[in-house]
Amino acid sequence: MNLILFGPPGAGKGTQAQFIVERLGVPQVSTGDMLRAAVKAQTPLGIMAKKIMDSGGLVSDDVVMAIVKDRLAQPDCENGFVLDGFPRTIAQADALDKMLVEIGREIDCVISMELDDSQIIQRLSGRRTCSVCGKGYHLTYDPPASVDQCTLCGGPLVQRDDDRERTIINRLDVYARQTAPLKDYYEQSGLLRHIEGCGSIKEIQLQISSLLEGRQGDHS
Ligand code: AMP
Repeated sequence: MNLILFGPPGAGKGTQAQFIVERLGVPQVSTGDMLRAAVKAQTPLGIMAKKIMDSGGLVSDDVVMAIVKDRLAQPDCENGFVLDGFPRTIAQADALDKMLVEIGREIDCVISMELDDSQIIQRLSGRRTCSVCGKGYHLTYDPPASVDQCTLCGGPLVQRDDDRERTIINRLDVYARQTAPLKDYYEQSGLLRHIEGCGSIKEIQLQISSLLEGRQGDHS
C-alpha cells in the first residue's frame, strides 16, 4: 500500500509512521529524516538545507523531489511506502503524481492527522531525540526513563533546533500557507481520510488500524 501521512509539524507523523511500518511491512520515507541525515553528514545538500531547516522554511521543491525519487526507486519500496512530511507543497504533490504515473503506481490513501495550534506547540516543545541512535521521545506522551538520556542506547537527548519556540511559529505559518492547502487537493481526489491527532499514541494507532483495515478490504 502506498500511503501519505499528512499533518502539521508535531502531529506525531513520525511515531505513527513507525507503527504503519511494523503493521504493513513497508518503509517510512521521511524527507525530514533524509534531510537531517544529509545535514549530519555535511554533504553539500545538507549544508545548503541546514539554514532553511533551522529557520523553519521549506527546502526547494526540486531538491526534495530528487531525494524522494531516489528513495522510491530503492527495492524496499517495491511493495509500498509511507510518505512522512512529503509532499508539503502543491508543486510537490503534482510532481509526485507525475512521478508515480511514470512508474505505474499511485497513492492509495492520505491519512490526515488533525491538531490545533496550541496542541502542536505543546507537542513540539516536548519533543527530544537521541543524538546517537535517533530515537524520538516526548517528555509527556512518550517519556524516556531518564529525562536527558536515551532509554535504548544511553545517548544524550537533544531538542531539534527547529523545535524551539521562535522557529515553531514560523513552521506553523509555513504549514498554514504552503502545506495545509494540500488537504483540499487530496480531498478532491477522494484519497483523504481524517483522524483525530490529539489522543494518546495508542488511541491514534487504533484509528489508523481501523482505517487501514478498511483500505486493505478495498484492495482484496
Ligand atoms: P520534518 O522532520 O518533516 O518536520 O522536517 C524538518 C524540516 O525539513 C522542515 O521544516 C523543512 O525545512 C524540511 N523539509 C522536510 N520535508 C520537506 C519537504 N517535503 N519539502 C520541503 N522541506 C522539507
